[in-house]
Parts: sequence; structure tokens; C-alpha cells
Amino acid sequence: MTNVSPIWRLAGSAIAHWWRLAAIFLLVWDDASNILFQQQHQIKSNGGTPFVTGFAYAPNFITKIIQEDTGISPSSFVAVATASTIEPVDTAINGNSKIQNNGLSQTPSQLNMSEEGDTNTAATDVANTLSIPPVVTRFPPEPNGYLHLGHAKAISFNFAVARMFHGTCNMRMDDTNPSKEDEEYVESILEDVKWIQSGLYDGDAPWDGPVRKTSSYFDVIYQCAEALIQQGDAYVDSLSAEEMREYRGTLTEPGRDSPYRTRSVQENMELFRKMKNRECKEGEHVLRAKIDMASPNINMRDPTLYRIKHESHQETGDEWCIYPMYDFSHPISDALEGITHSLCTLEFEDHRPFYDWTIEKLLPTGLIQARPRQIEFSRLNIQSTVLSKRKLIQLVEQGYVNGWDDPRMPTLSGMRRRGVPPAALRLFCERVGISKADSNIAFSALEDCVRLEMDETSRRAFCVLKPLKVTLTNWNGDELENFEVPCHPKMEEMGNRIIPFGKEVYIERSDFFDLNGPEGEANGGQVPNGYKRLLEGKTVRLRYAYVIQCDEVIRDPETKEPIELQCTYMPDTRSGHTPEGMERVKGIIHWVEGSSAVRCTVNQYDRLFLVEEPGKESGDYLKDLNPGSLEVLKDVLVEPSVATDVENHLKKMKNDPSVYPSSLAYQFERSGYFAIDKDSTGKDNIAFNRVVTLRDTWGAKPDEGDNKQRNRGQGDGEPNKNSQNTAVGPVEDVCRVAFRVATIVEAGPHPEADSLLVCKVDCGDVSEDGSPEQRTVVAGLAGKIPIEKLVGRKVVAVTNLKPAKMRGIESTAMLLAASDEKEEEVVELLNVPESVPNGELLNVEGKNPSEPDAIMKSKGALKAFDRVKASLRANENGEAVWIDDQGTSHRLQSSAGPVTTESLKDVVIQ
Ligand code: ATP
Ligand code: MG
Repeated sequence: MTNVSPIWRLAGSAIAHWWRLAAIFLLVWDDASNILFQQQHQIKSNGGTPFVTGFAYAPNFITKIIQEDTGISPSSFVAVATASTIEPVDTAINGNSKIQNNGLSQTPSQLNMSEEGDTNTAATDVANTLSIPPVVTRFPPEPNGYLHLGHAKAISFNFAVARMFHGTCNMRMDDTNPSKEDEEYVESILEDVKWIQSGLYDGDAPWDGPVRKTSSYFDVIYQCAEALIQQGDAYVDSLSAEEMREYRGTLTEPGRDSPYRTRSVQENMELFRKMKNRECKEGEHVLRAKIDMASPNINMRDPTLYRIKHESHQETGDEWCIYPMYDFSHPISDALEGITHSLCTLEFEDHRPFYDWTIEKLLPTGLIQARPRQIEFSRLNIQSTVLSKRKLIQLVEQGYVNGWDDPRMPTLSGMRRRGVPPAALRLFCERVGISKADSNIAFSALEDCVRLEMDETSRRAFCVLKPLKVTLTNWNGDELENFEVPCHPKMEEMGNRIIPFGKEVYIERSDFFDLNGPEGEANGGQVPNGYKRLLEGKTVRLRYAYVIQCDEVIRDPETKEPIELQCTYMPDTRSGHTPEGMERVKGIIHWVEGSSAVRCTVNQYDRLFLVEEPGKESGDYLKDLNPGSLEVLKDVLVEPSVATDVENHLKKMKNDPSVYPSSLAYQFERSGYFAIDKDSTGKDNIAFNRVVTLRDTWGAKPDEGDNKQRNRGQGDGEPNKNSQNTAVGPVEDVCRVAFRVATIVEAGPHPEADSLLVCKVDCGDVSEDGSPEQRTVVAGLAGKIPIEKLVGRKVVAVTNLKPAKMRGIESTAMLLAASDEKEEEVVELLNVPESVPNGELLNVEGKNPSEPDAIMKSKGALKAFDRVKASLRANENGEAVWIDDQGTSHRLQSSAGPVTTESLKDVVIQ
């Protein structure tokens, strides 16, 4: 790595110091302006040079609160290694033994930390981290269902906060309701939490210490209840449920005191013990807090603390017949575990006064010793799915899906079986960010993260989903020719694979347009616009192999559908060669050789619901289920290397239960990402699940096949109805603009204008046949930046503007450049980290990722673009920022860090 900043060097020495850390997480913080460059980087020590992957939570209101509470900035770096890698945890550096955190705000001096928390003290910080967890968070699900994507947000953030602040995160089953809870759920929850954090921890589990259970605190919670009775802060009420409701009042009317509210301490104690000793019937009495029946907050109108339930509990059996309410047990459990920050969803905001009341009333009793702080953030909602355990249980129990782990389910087990990598889910959660604003995120935002992750990690393979036989009439007998081709176009370390080629190959049915058959007839005897693949009498290139020409179409005698194409291959076109005098063949398609191909099944999934908000208009979310959410393709053909991989993978799974079937995944070229399904048993029985298509096709016209997808990065003028708005409410101007990463491939003078250059730019667009497609961009850069400095450069392009003719040449994108207002001559293009793939949409810090406009061409859109353009600047650190109406800067972020200028600072971007 060049330009190693001090923090990186520090990290390097940290690595050297602490044996071989499997993974270290760095949080880089520019201490000049404190919250300037926060980026979580995963550093893998691969023989010395650390390399960076990943993304991180942008600073948010919660990290700010915690920073204020603890005096620790989430700066420096945080080692997320556990005792197995950093050995003497308890005696780290300053020799402190691990002291029980009391949960009260600790000042930096208490923690022996620097006030600034700057990078210089990184080593000390880490030392302290290892001896005192200054921040303790927890993830507390109720084991009454499987975890879903909403929980992924809570899990990711709780663990991330713990890491950012040198703390730990507890895992707690909030098991206070025996009626709905089950051991099956407990096991699935633990598995899911480990899975979503996989790669981020060593050892058995990501959480600190054992799995905690609220039920194991039942004794203390009971004592707390008695203590409140003794203090006169709780009473036994004997109103019926209905009467209680009546007495509670409404949002606009105060409640009334129960006639039992004035019972003496002694009477309350006696009754409460009777309740506990099975001497009362369910519903006969409850224990209530004595607060204020006239409080404007209904949660403070003497909330229930305990109710009678003659049910056995999965953990405590028949020991108890009274169970504490969530609102009462939660603050006590938090305090007992030394949780410093109890992060939960917004519906608990109104319960916070009672949370605090409970803590304040109990601290003097000595039964609890800490004062945890509850902070709420908004729930995650995702369009076209449902995130509620109740609804998910209904889908499973009534057979709308095939179990909790059905790959269409938004459960974590469903996502895992489908093949969604946990890193993609974490990236998604980080991009969604943390705020108090309600949001409803487009499903495509999740899919984008999946693509980004899987593009890097998945091997490529040829797979023909709907095969059409091609016979090469001039091929020599049964001979096979082997092509050795890369497993990944960019990752050499993934090695090569062998694909055989021979007389009989299969291509996708959709890669042949049957002009002279029913298909052509249905299209008015016309070839579809822009079609470049195979036609009768024409040629196409079989990727890595030869150009073939279709000489004859053999048809089904009844349906007239093509069943075989008789073709000739051109020997002198091997491996991409175009012989002199021959015109370059534009269409390139994938194929599989017949005799060696492996037959398998492919499950293609689509959205589970047809509408963005299931049930909103129909009144019943079940009515909005998508009947076409699963398409099963039998007799799919894949190249033979896949069979070997599958056999090896199944063996690996036998030896290591933490390996999932879906961790073997591929990009089937031109089709999408696919992972092995758990029903696969061996090379003769392979099933794949489609994780995601290569590009967003949701909302595309139904007749568009898998291979005719919308180009990424370029609206095709056809707005994608389901992905225009991601957040409910108006989309902010800046989210409508497509800022994409691009590379300048060529540049030259404009024939008509001295000030203009004409560039060929790769903005990540892909043509119909899967080959990259460049755009022409006319830019006013002549004389400002030398041409040789432009070629090969990563830049930021705005790719959804209406094409504009500039002195006769149509320009289809705009390059972003910073320019010095004072000296107009100084212009710099924006820099993007090299590792970022072309086409990646930049994220505007603090904004929910959303699909930009297809093309900004309406009057309103043009105005919005002008407003955005006027608010783009390079800040005092040379980072590209967009400044909102309140004057707050939001950085333009790529997946590998911010976008910057070379040397210009505090200037406009145009
Ligand atoms: P559901 O509403 O689906 O029944 P829940 O909130 O009852 O879920 P819990 O098991 O109580 O589920 O949740 C455990 C933790 O996960 C809680 O802290 C809760 O706030 C958080 N959580 C649940 N759903 C979401 C969501 N959609 N977005 C963010 N966090 C969530
Ligand atoms: Mg709940």
C-alpha cells in the first residue's frame, strides 16, 4: 500500500505485535475534524500487506451520544480479536484485571484514556479495551420465531457499536413469555447471529461470555418486585383485565386510580406471595407499579410488572407461575449485565420513562448497580416483503412457503439458504444506516449489496438455464477440445478451470432469435431492436471458443419450435481471434458442451410479494403474494467443473458443520449469482438457488428474458416502477442523481471545438450479450488536464442525464471535476479508490441508498439536478461532499472510501 498513514502503520505494528490476527477492524478517524473519515476497514494480514474490504456505519446520533457518554471517540482502531488471538486479555498492558463495568457513564480519566481519543493513543486505547469494556451492548430477541432482516439491522449495529467503542456485546434470550417460546427458536437464533457475524470473530461465537437468558434472572427480578412493594412503589391490583383497560383512560383522557391502589405494604406482600405460590388463578391479580394514573404517557399509568401464568417455561419448568412483563424485566436484565447502552427500536421510545423509573427506583435497593441508557432507532422496513414474526409464522404455518428457511423468506435462515453472503447483509445494514426516521427500503438496495459482495467472491461458470442444442456439422467426430479459462476475471488467485468443447454444445434458447418461426412471426417478422445474438444464417461468438454460423434450424414438427441448430464453426476464430478480413462478430454468448455437461435443477426466485407494501391497499397482505415467486428449472446444464466443486464441498460440509451448502456459489455468466441448495446430495443431484440476477430486472417488461436485462448504470428511458422511490415520502434531490464510478478508456480532441475532449468511458454498462459497453463523453477539459493523464483514470460520472449534443457529438454522461474558482485554469477530476468497480453507485453519507432516476429529463428533475450540482464541493480535506439545506456536508462514498480531489481543497465541484 502506498501512502501509508500513521494509523495504518500503527495497525501494521499492531498486527506484528499480536501474533497473527485473523482479522482486525480499523476505524480510521481524521482527528482534525473528528468525524471526517470514519470507515471501517477489514484488514486481513495476508503475509504483511493489509488490504481493505468492507464499509462501516457512518457516524450517527447514537455513536455521538455514546461518544459524549464515554468520552471515547470511535476513533483509533479496535481489535476484534478474542482471547484466542490476543492471549492475556485480563492482563493486557496496564495489568488491570477485567473489572465489572458498572454501566454508569465513565469519563476518559476513569478509563485512563485520552480526552481526544486521537490516533496517537490508539495503542493505549486498545490496551484499555482489553481490560475494561467501556461500552456493553446486547442483542435481546424473544425466542418466539426465527430472526429476519430487521433483526439483522439490530444485530449488526449492536455488535458494530461494541467494536467501535472497544466494548463487548451480549447475547440474551428475552424469554419471559412461556406461551410462545420454543427451544427450536433459541437454536435458530444463535445460529443466525453467528452466521451474520461470521468472519468478524474468532472462537465459538461473536458475543461476550455465555448466552444469557432473562429467565435466569427470575429470582432477582422477583426480589426487585418485592423491593418495590416494600418501598410503596408497587401494588397488587385485582381489577379484571377489562376493568383495568377502562381505568387506564385514553390518549386524551387521564386514567383513574384502581380501588386496590391503596392496599398496605403488608397486604401487597401477602398477595404477591400468594400469586407466586400458586394460590391464585390466572387473571385474578397482577402486580403493578405505582406511578401516576394521570400521566400523559400511558406507559406510566401504573404499568403491570407481573402476571400469573400457570404454564411451564422451557428453561425454568414449573418453578414459576408468575412471569415478569418485558418492560420490567428488560431494564433489570440490562443493569445486571452491565449493559451501558440499550439500543432498541423506536416503538420503545414511549417506554423509556418507565425504563428509567425502574432503574432509579431499584438502584438504592442495591439489587442492581448500573444505570444503562436506552436509545431508540428506527426499525428496518423493506419493500415487497414483510418483517413481522407474526406474519412470518403465518406464512410458514399455512404453507405459503416451504418452511422458515424457504429462500424467498426474509428470514436470516432463508437468506442463508438462498446464498446471500452475511457480508452483503452487513453492508446493507451499514448502508441503510441508523436514524430515527422511518424508512421503507427498496428490496433492490439489498440486492445491490449482494451483487457487490458476490461479484468479488464468486467463481464464474457457464450454465445454460434453458438449453437449445447446437450441432457443429464440421467438427471432427467425438473429439473434445479443452479450454483453460479463469475462474474469476479479476482475481487471479482463484485460478483456472477447464471447459471442454465439442461437436454438440448447448446455448440458451433466448440467445437464438427464431426469425423464421413462431417467435419471429409474433414479432411481426422483425428482429428485436439491437439484437446481436444468433439468427438463422448469421454468426455469433461462443465465449472463449469459436465463432459459429447457424446454417439450419430443426424444428419440432408440431409446435414448429426450434429443437436443434445445425451450425458450422470457424477454426480460425479460436479464443477471441478475428482473422484478417473478417468483420468482428458482435454477439458473444455462453454455452456448455453436451457430453460432459452436468444436469441440475435451478430454483429461480422472485419477490415474495407483488406490491411494495403488502396489505396496504388490499387490506390483507396474503392477497399480495406473488404467485410467480418460484420457478423451478429442471435439466439445466452446467459445465463439468461444477460437479467436482460440489462433491468437494459436500465432503467439506461433512467434516465441518459451520460450512453451509450455500457457501459454494457461482456467477453463472450472463445469468446471475447462484448458490448450492441444501437438498443437493452429490453430482447426480445438484440443486441451485438463484441468489440474485446480474442486474435489477424487477419491474422490467414480462417478455424480457433473463438475458435481456436493463443495463446497469444507464436508464433505458423506461423507469423501473418499483425502484424509483426507496424511502417513503419524497426522494431527496441528491438521491435522484446517479453518481457512478467509471474509468476513462480513451480520450482525444474534439474535431470541432478546441476546448472540448471526446472520451470513451466505461461506466459499468453492459450490453445485451454481457460485454462491457462504453459511453461517449464530451468534456471541457482540453488544455486543463493532459490527455495521457486521463486515460485509465477512475472518475465519477453522472450517468442519468439526458444525452446532450456538444458541437455535433452526443455526450451520454458528465464527469465530475473540482475547479478553483479563483484560478479558473486549475481543474481536477475526482479520484476514486482503484478497487471500486465501474458502475458502482456512490452513496451519499447519511442518506438511505436508493435507486436514482432512470433519466433526469423532466423539468422538475432538471431543476433538482441543478440544485444538487450547485451544492457539490470539495471540502477542506479535498473530499467530495454534497451540502444539504441545513448546511450539513454529506460525503460521496464509494465502497472503498470517500471520493477526493488530488490537491484542490475547499472549491466547487462541477
Ligand atoms: P417482530 O416485530 O418481528 O415480532 P420483535 O421486535 O418482537 O420483532 P424481538 O425478538 O423482540 O422481535 O427483537 C429483538 C431485537 O431486534 C429488538 O431489540 C428489536 O428492537 C430488534 N428488531 C426487531 N425487528 C426489527 C426491525 N425491523 N428493525 C430493526 N430492529 C429490529
Ligand atoms: Mg418484541
